[in-house]
Amino acid sequence: MQYVNSVVDLVGNTPLVRLHRVTEGVTRATVLVKLEYLNPGGSAKDRIAARIIEAAEREGKLRPGGTIVEPTSGNTGVGLALVAQQRGYRCVFVLPDKVGEDKRNVLTAYGAEIVVTPTAVAPDSPESYYSVSDRLVREIPGAFKPDQYSNPNGPRSHYETTGPEIWRDTDGRVTHFVAGVGTGGTITGAGRYLREVSGDRVRIVGADPEGSVYSGGTGRPYLVEGVGEDFWPSAYDPSVPHEVIAVSDAESFAMTRRLAREEGILVGGSSGMAVVAALRAARDASPDDVVVVLLPDGGRGYLGKIFNDTWMRSYGFSPAVESHTVADVLA
Ligand code: PMP
Repeated sequence: MQYVNSVVDLVGNTPLVRLHRVTEGVTRATVLVKLEYLNPGGSAKDRIAARIIEAAEREGKLRPGGTIVEPTSGNTGVGLALVAQQRGYRCVFVLPDKVGEDKRNVLTAYGAEIVVTPTAVAPDSPESYYSVSDRLVREIPGAFKPDQYSNPNGPRSHYETTGPEIWRDTDGRVTHFVAGVGTGGTITGAGRYLREVSGDRVRIVGADPEGSVYSGGTGRPYLVEGVGEDFWPSAYDPSVPHEVIAVSDAESFAMTRRLAREEGILVGGSSGMAVVAALRAARDASPDDVVVVLLPDGGRGYLGKIFNDTWMRSYGFSPAVESHTVADVLA
């Protein structure tokens, strides 16, 4: 019989897929994307969740019956909820009230509890996102706060799994590695591994939304989710990437739509962003070059945004392909 003992055993070992259409006429390199949406929780964050929880157990920070408390609305929450449920821990996530219902429902579907905090308060207000999570950690007995922005097990999980998988699956032929920077864990961990194992021959390229600090911005807002920051988290080591390329929301969203329509790959906006940065980094690459781009999550969480023409137009973006009415189609 071929089976795994738990869905947690399915985390990692995601496949590489070659891009064809979006690379045509842009680069001669082979461009391979690593599909992290094929993790059981649907994103690369399953990797850090598994590693962070295992380490906390080993270090005695999480004991049977313990509770995981984290301010997170997204993929990290799903990863933590999934692993926690399998190990018998309670999860309490603190979410700002701007987070949509679908995202809340995914977390509660896995059995997590959520606490919603108002967005329109100062960070030092007792009601704020950060104050509430700190208070819950203090008041819930046996509470553990993973803190993905500073937990070294985040980058470590990518050093131990993502990086080695890329090296193994390309037979050591990878020449460029491209990933978006959010907490910085992916680029720091996988990038560091690939630099070390290759004798520093792999070029590490960060992708960042225009406006974020990693590519020299001020922290001004952007719409791509999960990447970019207005502060420097300790999970990110800025000495790992050789360069960080800034990509606009418009370019990220247009490429995200093209990946679905032309490559059959339905992914989130930070994936489109990473592919744009990869094509830029590989513009002058040779046919022997192998560019690996990490695509962090799937597109189903963005159907009402990036894949919705009305939403796109409301922010001034052009939907790449117009949808047609029945009359248009029959005309
Ligand atoms: N894309 C998405 C959708 C994410 O949720 C994240 C994680 N914040 C990233 C990219 C960036 O990954 P990392 O935190 O490892 O830099």
